[in-house]
Amino acid sequence: MTSDVTGHAATPVGRFAPSPTGPLHQGSVVAAVASYLDARARGGRWLLRIDDLDPPREVAGAADLIIETLHALGLDWDGEIVYQSRRGAAYAEALAALDAVGATFPCGCTRAMVGSGPYPGTCRDGLPPGRRARSLRVRVDADVIGFEDRVQGHYAQRLDVECGDFIVRRADGLVAYHLAVVVDDAAAGVTDIVRGVDLIDSTPRQLHLQRLLGLPRPSYAHIDVVRDARGVKLSKQSGAPGVLPAAAPVALYAALAFLGHAPPSEAAGAPVRELLDWALPRWALTAPAAGD
Ligand code: GLU
Repeated sequence: MTSDVTGHAATPVGRFAPSPTGPLHQGSVVAAVASYLDARARGGRWLLRIDDLDPPREVAGAADLIIETLHALGLDWDGEIVYQSRRGAAYAEALAALDAVGATFPCGCTRAMVGSGPYPGTCRDGLPPGRRARSLRVRVDADVIGFEDRVQGHYAQRLDVECGDFIVRRADGLVAYHLAVVVDDAAAGVTDIVRGVDLIDSTPRQLHLQRLLGLPRPSYAHIDVVRDARGVKLSKQSGAPGVLPAAAPVALYAALAFLGHAPPSEAAGAPVRELLDWALPRWALTAPAAGD
């Protein structure tokens, strides 16, 4: 495979990584469509991963319904679907690698002890007497971790100020989202991440883990999220309705319009393949709306 000067594969690899906590809603359809078009418009590959890392949050049947809806949307993925629930060995290897360089430490604090601010470093230099290890945290420092987002521009955080040493293995033994995401994206050779801007504040933590693990850094594009009439981001928690397979053409048309690529009005109701074929040669990531 050929590489450009940044070391990225010349063929872009994008992905969509839904958590199966319910059916797709219009906001997640927008993220799926944007990442699909962004990869495919450049002749790239597009992968599907089911982020079923957190069984307590999972809804039975949601993963299959999501897959069915993506089919109905015409968003065909390459290769096998990756399930995070089957990737435990890769995560254990990454935790061992972090441990080997002294980047992690066991923490005995409960959420209530830490409070809402950054982690105060209580167990950083060893568990205080009488505390037993609950979670595993990764050390952060005072470096500014920044990146150029393709939509939002420069974005940076100091992790010591923002969150402090953060959890990579939870008290219930489950691997934290940030670790799983960087391990999986690197294993799949993902070069281009396109996802909702609600995830941008988690990106510096992911860059920190990539650096510690010696993994390549993909490019990032955090697109504006869809909001309801009250201005609240669509989510399961906000009561956003699910997009079922039968509604795929309407949902796709609306997603393209949201992304600044509204097909001509006579194309409303056209089959999904026609809508995607219309959008592919026109695809460009749009800047966020003024005021966002
Ligand atoms: N599974 C995550 C979610 O549904 C997204 C992961 C990602 O795109 O990095 O919020």
